[in-house]
Amino acid sequence: MVESPFVLKNIDTRPKFMNASAQEIQKRAHSLGTAITFQTISYNSSYTNITALEEFHTFLREKYDLIFGGSLSFVNVQEVNTHSLLIRVEGQRPTKNPFLLCGHMDVVPIASGQWARHPFSGDIYRDESDGEEYIFGRGAIDNKQAVIGLLEALTYLIEKEGQPQRTFYMAFGHDEEVGGKQGAGFIARKLEESLNKENEKLSFILDEGMFVMDGVFPGVSDPVAYVGVVEKGFIDVSLTVNGDPGHSSSPPKETTIGILAKAITNLEEKQQPSRFGSSVEYDTMKYVAPHASFGYKLILGNLWLFSSILSSILSKGSTDAIQRTTTAVTIIKGGIKSNVLPSEASAVVNHRIHPADTIETVIAQDIKNINDDRVQVTLMDTFDASEATPVSPYDSDFVPFQIIANSIHDVFNNAILSPGVMLGGTDTKHYLHLCDAVYRFQPVRLSKSDIPRFHGTDERISVKNFNQVIEFYYRLIHNANFDIEEKPMEIKAASLLEEKPVVLNKPVVLNKPVVLDKGNNDEVFNALPIEDYDIDYEGSGL
Ligand SMILES: [Zn+2]
Repeated sequence: MVESPFVLKNIDTRPKFMNASAQEIQKRAHSLGTAITFQTISYNSSYTNITALEEFHTFLREKYDLIFGGSLSFVNVQEVNTHSLLIRVEGQRPTKNPFLLCGHMDVVPIASGQWARHPFSGDIYRDESDGEEYIFGRGAIDNKQAVIGLLEALTYLIEKEGQPQRTFYMAFGHDEEVGGKQGAGFIARKLEESLNKENEKLSFILDEGMFVMDGVFPGVSDPVAYVGVVEKGFIDVSLTVNGDPGHSSSPPKETTIGILAKAITNLEEKQQPSRFGSSVEYDTMKYVAPHASFGYKLILGNLWLFSSILSSILSKGSTDAIQRTTTAVTIIKGGIKSNVLPSEASAVVNHRIHPADTIETVIAQDIKNINDDRVQVTLMDTFDASEATPVSPYDSDFVPFQIIANSIHDVFNNAILSPGVMLGGTDTKHYLHLCDAVYRFQPVRLSKSDIPRFHGTDERISVKNFNQVIEFYYRLIHNANFDIEEKPMEIKAASLLEEKPVVLNKPVVLNKPVVLDKGNNDEVFNALPIEDYDIDYEGSGL
């Protein structure tokens, strides 16, 4: 029997649940439905639908007046760079290790393709094929369910329990789909200011990411909750072929377009190499192994022997992206007239870089795969070119990961938990300097046939699942109380100088001279005999 290396430690033995009534569940579904009707589309880095964003903000302010209305002293909402939001919720207990929960308010455009309903209808309907009720439209799983889910969870928690125990932040960017520079990029600076001011350090970050996946892993029938602990890098590479213009009546053997076409064929046929076994994907398999069917259990449990077999199984479907840098030719240009030889033909290739590769190795591999000097291969200067991120810790004894794992387990109790490589990009790239524990996961259930809905057509989430989203965030905020790290008691020189006698919360033993940071108060300070203060001092508290 293969043992999963991850041990779930129950950190809250008496978990609280929301136990929402059918009516409340419907009300929440309608909130998400309404949120979807705002067409907050990001087209490119300089064009986002500002009007829709402003209307969406108005909706949030009205709907979540408790949070946005300014009536609560412990909730602070900042509009960042006009259209993004940073919310600080101060806990009852002064903590130095708050956490950050993220979502984004923008959505991708509607590509061509037939939608069963209007993509911004926000309709709630019953699907006769499975009897489930769904909330329909762009943003249902990317990523308005997180924004509305977090606000619903927070509203519920405050209404029922008052001020939360532990301090945390929520960040909602407005341009994640086009790189996040204007949103998360600006939020990161505001957040850093706030953390410095409060003398805090982020304990962990949770942003959108991988899903609770049904039937996606070969040989595994239970759902797998796949938590992204590392994010792939991102580059665009341009391929350019130059040639002599001329008349099509006496063409050369190969035109610029023909040369380019061969280069593209080579890139697609040869692919970047599999890196299976060199990063987190190896552990992904180890974690799910004990739950796999017999044949797969044998393979997954003996990866040292069967790595290459598994690698070829993975390469057959969408799972291939887990084990290698992907190659997608996304733009092609060349030619102006049917009887003119094109002097230039070019294409753009988008790569998502596996953690074991780098920008340099990927481009070198492209050049090798193309194997033709006539094709210029250049790294494009795009807004979100990046290497893969560092790997966040996911050991059994790492408390922030345990907090997320427990929250997943509370809500999806039959799901197998697994760390993994996050295949797409998220706003977290702007926050990496603020925290080493960065997780990318959304409590959204996705079956194999649902995968094309993501950034595709007929995006939707079931009403039941959306309630689980809210429940998950609520549980997470509770579970996070397990790890409240108290702020050290502060005794400031200024208070010693101003107040006499000094009243402290607990007795302190003074047994050696106090050395204070005297700042500009040398004279005043030197004149003050320490013995006059009726305090004891233990050494390192100042
Ligand atoms: Zn997203």
